[in-house]
Amino acid sequence: MAYAIEGATGPWEVVVGLEVHAQVISESKLFSGSSAAFGAEPNTHVSFIDAGFPGMLPVINRACVAQAVRTGLGLNAEIHKVSRFDRKNYFYADMPQGYQISQFEHPIVGTGIVEVELSDGSVKRIGVTRLHLEQDAGKSLHDQHPTKTFVDLNRSGVPLMEIVSEPDIRSPEEAGAYLRKLRSILRYLGTCDGNMEEGSMRADVNVSVRKAGEPYRTRCEVKNVNSIRFVMQAIEAEAARQVEVWESGGEVKQETRLFDPNRGVTRSMRSKEDAHDYRYFPEPDLLPLVLEQNWIDALKAALPELPDAKKARFRSEYGLTAYDAAVLVAEKATADFFEAVAKGRDPKIAANWVTGDFFAALNRTGKTIETSPVSAANLGALLDLMANNTINGRIAKDVFEAMVETGKDPAEIVEEKGLKQVTDTGAIDAAVDAIIAANADKVAEYRSGKDKLFGFFVGQTMKAMGGKGNPALINETLKRRLS
Ligand code: MN
Repeated sequence: MAYAIEGATGPWEVVVGLEVHAQVISESKLFSGSSAAFGAEPNTHVSFIDAGFPGMLPVINRACVAQAVRTGLGLNAEIHKVSRFDRKNYFYADMPQGYQISQFEHPIVGTGIVEVELSDGSVKRIGVTRLHLEQDAGKSLHDQHPTKTFVDLNRSGVPLMEIVSEPDIRSPEEAGAYLRKLRSILRYLGTCDGNMEEGSMRADVNVSVRKAGEPYRTRCEVKNVNSIRFVMQAIEAEAARQVEVWESGGEVKQETRLFDPNRGVTRSMRSKEDAHDYRYFPEPDLLPLVLEQNWIDALKAALPELPDAKKARFRSEYGLTAYDAAVLVAEKATADFFEAVAKGRDPKIAANWVTGDFFAALNRTGKTIETSPVSAANLGALLDLMANNTINGRIAKDVFEAMVETGKDPAEIVEEKGLKQVTDTGAIDAAVDAIIAANADKVAEYRSGKDKLFGFFVGQTMKAMGGKGNPALINETLKRRLS
């Protein structure tokens, strides 16, 4: 069932395209040698170029170009061997050049495809229109002084990739899935850290609505949304607003809007009449960017295994379901953790433990894979203790909880707490006999055909043995004694 906004006149389709600004992971800035690191004292990472001094000439950073090409390859996109930088002219107090060096007509990366998995198990292909390189502006600080605004130029000239999607997205869920997948690809590639909270990835959201089969109607752009959840909420709020405008006989006007997450609404920022005329023209201080095919080929050959390829391999190599594989490859750290646990062991059991008890423990304790008290080696050792019948599955859950609490290895916990599984048939026989003797009425019922009571006897025997009995041996002994 496709997503729709239900209006008085029936369902409306939602049409969304996303423009994502992703900060390139790079030592230095796009056109200068200044550090691109986050969080330094204001105005300590600023060269004359970043400060827009007259006569300063930008020099393209080869590493940033490589990152853009690698990202394009990761998005299954065409790499343009010739691209060009343009000046986008506008005035802003924290942009000392008076223009942004960007790419307009000839971006470095052309059309590509991002495949996203949706909650109903389907896969949707969302088109990428382009990726271009551009410099970031500085930052105005309005909260340092009651009457003055300060400017921090550390961010001025930091490299950004602007990644523009086709208007292929049809619901908040698809937008969320696209952003998560895009972030996952960027992190695998190591081209952007994807931390939306720190602003290293932010999204402009283009939203319109229409009746099924209609051409596109006027869209509005919701600027600078800085979390995936807010993007999804902004789409819902903006689409509902537009439906109400159209249905009340009005007309949606093209404008830039802001999302207010506290009130869950979008509000107007500037209308089209106020839109900038950027007077784009080719940047005269930079030559066109020309890439050699063998350089692109070398970058391609050195790409890491990306989420889609890893997912396919997890399915074929480990026999995982599409769902489990998708969950495990979403973050590279998770995929690596799983493979370390699965190595030489039953991969499906490993996947169940990682996506089940392990993820639940991380959630509950607010830890990540990196800070997890349970290492992959220790979780693997726990699976070994089950596989070689040292402990049963029930006791394994208790041992795991103790591992979460203490960080100890499972063998130590089993030893300390005396949790070794009882496989001594004499002890099991004795426990079974005692249960049978104490429940003569139930034994009679079972023997007269009430098969369901078998579970009762298993439970009682296990309880009597402190949970440590070998389940297979208990079942076998009970079957024999009760028949
Ligand atoms: Mn931009």
